[in-house]
Amino acid sequence: MTVDGPDADHTSSGPQTYEYVIIGGGIHGTCLANYLLAEGEYSHQDICLVEPREQLLASFATKARQCGMRTLRSTFVHHIGTEPFSLESFAEGAGREGELVSTENYPNRPTLDLFLDHARYVIDRRDIDECHLQSSVTGVARTGAGDRLEVQTTVGTLEARNVVLAIGLGGQPTVPAWATSLPDDAPLVHVWDTGFDPTTAAKFAGPAFVVGGGITAGQLACNLSEHTDVTLLSRHDLEIELTEADPYWINWRHIEQEIHTLPPGSKARLDRIRAARNDATIPPYVERRLDEARDCGDLEIRRGEITCARATDDGLLVRFDDGTTAANAQVVLATGLDPVPEHPLVGSVAESLSLQRGAEGFPVLDDRTLAWQRTDGTDSSVYVSGALAEPSVGPFARNIVGARRVAERLLASRHRAGSQRAPSAPRGRS
Ligand SMILES: Cc1cc2nc3c(=O)[nH]c(=O)nc-3n(C[C@H](O)[C@H](O)[C@H](O)COP(=O)(O)OP(=O)(O)OC[C@H]3O[C@@H](n4cnc5c(N)ncnc54)[C@H](O)[C@@H]3O)c2cc1C
Repeated sequence: MTVDGPDADHTSSGPQTYEYVIIGGGIHGTCLANYLLAEGEYSHQDICLVEPREQLLASFATKARQCGMRTLRSTFVHHIGTEPFSLESFAEGAGREGELVSTENYPNRPTLDLFLDHARYVIDRRDIDECHLQSSVTGVARTGAGDRLEVQTTVGTLEARNVVLAIGLGGQPTVPAWATSLPDDAPLVHVWDTGFDPTTAAKFAGPAFVVGGGITAGQLACNLSEHTDVTLLSRHDLEIELTEADPYWINWRHIEQEIHTLPPGSKARLDRIRAARNDATIPPYVERRLDEARDCGDLEIRRGEITCARATDDGLLVRFDDGTTAANAQVVLATGLDPVPEHPLVGSVAESLSLQRGAEGFPVLDDRTLAWQRTDGTDSSVYVSGALAEPSVGPFARNIVGARRVAERLLASRHRAGSQRAPSAPRGRS
């Protein structure tokens, strides 16, 4: 079955061929659609943004609310718009400058609400919703027609000249081994479980243990501690870092020097990136909230691990690695997501199009174009954005600024290649 996309042209015969099918309408997919539309070369008819959720960016907004995030960790220049000061102007125009939160030795950071409202403004201004097809992609294959690709979705098949994988941070929440044999109704949840609601977790009668040592665990523990007794349980001492990596990693020149000089697909690239990323760290403003909650007696911070747990009538009986136990407990995991190369779509696309995978299953990309390379070393028409592009985009690949970097590189490569098609007349906004 061939499906009419969100903006199908019913006057032409045969299935519509999109210039870009973008898989994932999160921060990265939406930001890229905005950049493509802003160029003027592409219209809404050229772009299909496939996203199963009803709203674009819903994945990010939901996660942010699930962990009780109040402000972004990144600064006011990081957003999905094309102009660096767009969010700041939006705040000023709406009299919301107070939602640009000042931070010591760092530019202002937006509140979550301001960031999301600005994102909605960008989406509306450019009618990006018109490109949204509410569906999931199940596979990508070659068509019989030249270099076009067939994108299989849960509502039918789309045809595309280029496909961009922007599927996010990872597939499944990571669950420690001791938790896997607990019954489904045990009071054990993961902060990234679909339907996790912190207000429900806060109503649990017994003590709550938040497992994790990064910003998500920190924010969640602060949030829950306003309603119930919480222990933040971390394997390591809490490490404090303001940003996810040093800001010079935002610049292509630095990435090219430090990463692109290492062999494509190599483990050396991943090692360099991991050494640069401040993973599992907590920014000082969250540390302050944790300290305040601890000072008020609402929160305990404990170093250690759960080694086993058993469900009882009143909650979990958990045992820690120092031999102590806690009864009637609830456990909320903030242990991250499984690595994004394990996302089923990555393996299936690689296999059906004969694309190269490198260390840990990451796609091997052409560093200049971000095209996923075929096993014969040529560029395919599949591009990658987000965490999956880390070996070429560097430590900020998954972040908001990473979306902008990818969009810039994709557009630059299009310009270098020259326009191979008669551009559609731009519609809507400029
Ligand atoms: C709570 C939280 C706070 C963060 N704060 C910041 C911050 O302050 N600054 C910063 O720079 N970064 C931050 N990040 C990191 C990063 O910016 C976000 O994770 C961001 O959402 C990544 O964008 P993305 O598009 O890659 O992933 P997502 O926003 O998760 O979007 C991926 C989308 O792909 C869709 N998808 C997956 N599979 C398919 C499929 N088969 N077919 C169709 N669609 C599919 C999903 O439904 C999802 O909507 C934060 C991350 C989290 C979780």
